[in-house]
Amino acid sequence: RSEPLDQGTSHKLLQFANGAQQTAQSSCQSLDASLEEEVKAFLINEDELHTYDDLTKVSPVTPSTVLKCLQARYSAKVFYTHAGCTLVALNPFQPIPHLYSLDVMKEYHCAPQPQEFKPHIFIVAEEAYRNVQGQVEPTNQSLVVSGESGAGKTWTSRCLMKYYATIAAPSSSQKCQDTVERIERRVLDSNPIMEAFGNASTLRNNNSSRFGKYIQLQLDRSQLLVGASVQTYLLEKTRVAFQAANERNFHIFYQASKWLTCRTLIHVLIYLTLFSKAVSLVNPLTVIYFFWPILAGLLNLGNVIFCPSDDESQPCKLKEQSRGFLQNTADLLGVPSEELEACLRLRSLRAGKQSVVLKPCSQAECSVRRDCLAKLIYAHVFDWLVACINKSMCADTSRWCNFIGLLDVYGFECFTSNNLEQLCINYANEKLQQHFVAHYLKAQQDYVSEGLAWSFIQYQDNQSCLDLIEGSPAGVFSLLNEECRLNRPSDAKQFRMRLEKELSSNACVSWDKFSRQPDFTVLHYAGKVSYQIEGMMEKNKDPVPPELVHLLQQSQDSLLQSFFTEHSTEDSSGRGPSKVVTVVSKFKNSLESLMKILHSTTPHYTRCIKPNPDCRPLTFKKEEVINQLEACGIVETINISAAGFPIRAGMRRNRSPVALTPCETLNRSHPSPQLELLEGQRDRERSSKAFSIQCCWRRHCWRKREARIHAATRIQAVAVCCQLWKCVCVCTCYYTYINVTFPEQAHVESLAETELDDVANIEAETPVYDPTLRERGSVQLSTCQEPVMVRSWPLGLALASAPTITVAVTACGFQKVVSLMTCLKLSFRSTDYKVETNQFDQGVASIRAQPQESIKLHLQRSPLLYADMYPGRKTGGITGFNQILLEKT
Ligand code: ADP
Repeated sequence: RSEPLDQGTSHKLLQFANGAQQTAQSSCQSLDASLEEEVKAFLINEDELHTYDDLTKVSPVTPSTVLKCLQARYSAKVFYTHAGCTLVALNPFQPIPHLYSLDVMKEYHCAPQPQEFKPHIFIVAEEAYRNVQGQVEPTNQSLVVSGESGAGKTWTSRCLMKYYATIAAPSSSQKCQDTVERIERRVLDSNPIMEAFGNASTLRNNNSSRFGKYIQLQLDRSQLLVGASVQTYLLEKTRVAFQAANERNFHIFYQASKWLTCRTLIHVLIYLTLFSKAVSLVNPLTVIYFFWPILAGLLNLGNVIFCPSDDESQPCKLKEQSRGFLQNTADLLGVPSEELEACLRLRSLRAGKQSVVLKPCSQAECSVRRDCLAKLIYAHVFDWLVACINKSMCADTSRWCNFIGLLDVYGFECFTSNNLEQLCINYANEKLQQHFVAHYLKAQQDYVSEGLAWSFIQYQDNQSCLDLIEGSPAGVFSLLNEECRLNRPSDAKQFRMRLEKELSSNACVSWDKFSRQPDFTVLHYAGKVSYQIEGMMEKNKDPVPPELVHLLQQSQDSLLQSFFTEHSTEDSSGRGPSKVVTVVSKFKNSLESLMKILHSTTPHYTRCIKPNPDCRPLTFKKEEVINQLEACGIVETINISAAGFPIRAGMRRNRSPVALTPCETLNRSHPSPQLELLEGQRDRERSSKAFSIQCCWRRHCWRKREARIHAATRIQAVAVCCQLWKCVCVCTCYYTYINVTFPEQAHVESLAETELDDVANIEAETPVYDPTLRERGSVQLSTCQEPVMVRSWPLGLALASAPTITVAVTACGFQKVVSLMTCLKLSFRSTDYKVETNQFDQGVASIRAQPQESIKLHLQRSPLLYADMYPGRKTGGITGFNQILLEKT
């Protein structure tokens, strides 16, 4: 019969067992962490990280190791790092003039192996230039510069243009043109003009390009720069009428208002206006004079505000203080002010074939029409400017045969509120990412087709995201266009339901059922972005009221008038469904033509990284950088490049991650021996690293095993304790039962106990014995004060001479063993059994015996210790339970 443990004891035991388990777990965890640390410490030599000029050398390639390397380099003021086939450019946010000087340009240009120099944007530029010189197919080159706003794309493009303007310019002896007319000058001058009209200060960058551009630098047969052309993409024209809090309008408005307050300049303006058509575009100042009336007209138009109307049948009234601004706008745009006011307040509707009805607009509609007019004019000014720049720079097709294109695109965007502009921008980035991956996978296929062993790299395929956006008939763009062509008032909620119905099978889209505004979330390769549906259809339609176009066609300003002469009013009326050319359709078409160009050229990628959001010099914020590294898939890029580096060594010109000797360089046309050499080197490196990892791993396993054994020992001890406790409980029960059932017997026993109890704590009471007694052995009889020397053995004789004795064993070693064995009447040697006396180590403190009755051995330490698998030498021990009762049989 076993008694259950009492609550307190079982709780303590449970706690002990839990503690043992937790200790075991935490020691395993800390061991895991220490292994990771050890491996990292072994693999990454932090002191040398800044010397890694190619991120493929970092091992293992993980976002955190790549980040560490970039941070180390940034701290050492090294801003460019190769990432295999890509160049990573960290923005220093402070001028580093010596990095871009003329001498540096020449150094990179004249070097036989520029890639052996420190990583630099000039290496990329020179590589592309040499590809053209070497007529390596495809001969035309594209330099793709990407990164988020403020990362340094415009700066990098400017550097590239300066580089080509310097190295691809005709030498003085060849110079046959007027200096002012030199094309490189024009290429460089066009940039600030476009930046003035197309860049603005945003929360992320105070010179953010609000349009994408592809600049084609045209080279003749001798690779001299003979012309250039610019193609632009999706100017963010909504900025003219609306800027988010703490953002600004396009730079040109501020520059214009600052410069043209000066009266002398206004005289110049008049002068320039007179001769404007003949003036060549030299700098932004000139252009401002040129466009001044239009820009000033737009600035005035922004101040035209309408009052709310109580009567829907009546047009809204103009605010009194706006009348002056309306008059100024009309004067500057060269249109009659009454007509301008009417166009803003009245909408014309066709009733039947001929007749036109004028319908008054609400206050909100008036504001939309005003903003539409401003956006329309600004977009035309920008397009005209680009056309002018192209006219002044573009060489005759017979003069150039190759080109190097610079693509400066807006990076991936994700704001708190995203609309059609962000959808288009992120779509363009998806396209470019796909092009990037496809380009390098193609290189892999070439590698495989040569019969070389290859392990494919896992990469993110973004085709399903592209299907989601551009797919037909079920894609966001198609559905958006369809909705716009229906020519009915747009309903965001309804459109969201339509999107959900048509696109729910695509894994890249998700729906937030609880969002207040109807939206949809796209899982881009660079992260999730939620797009607000409200206003998206209107933006896509981009409706231009025909009255406004008619008005501008009659403008006295010949430049403004020329913008709209070819513009058909029918086109913008939006009557025929097929005539609506939506924003996304235009964007998709222009992006497709760009992709065609990119596919026909050799691409070179530069990823610009913004090290901190506040544009502070030499400040590296890890979270900011890691997000960008993930957004441009840099780790995958490095893996692809690292796995494919023999391609670069053997097949691509002038680019190898290891310095090759001249003899090896000669072998370029026969890459196999070189590949073997590199493969061998890589194998050796790998096996040495593997060996070290194995050592770390074995040490880790051994420590883990030790921790487990320790934990197991403790758990076993608890289990044994439990069992013993149960036994104690059972014994106590029996004892009580006997006491109750046989009171006389109990009385006799209690008398014996009383007699024996004076030696209960024998350890504490043990007298100091004479050392000789200790040596020889003695017994302490409870009836005699002095110990009795025992000279003859066995001890059983002494026991037999007294009715009840207590024996304190002072003998040790063999004597003790013998005396005890004799007490127990056991023979050492027997054929039937063997006596094992391992508990003697624990020290027998006393023996209580009654002749013909039971013998009690008191041990100095608990026999519980035998539960221990590895008892070893314990200093402490478990006390209690230290009595063994041997019943006589
Ligand atoms: P993006 O075109 O990507 O929006 P920018 O090229 O305008 O960004 O760069 C933002 C700012 O960072 C620039 O105005 C310039 O001051 C600074 N910057 C960028 N790259 C460099 C560089 N390599 N050296 C010094 N300053 C730089």
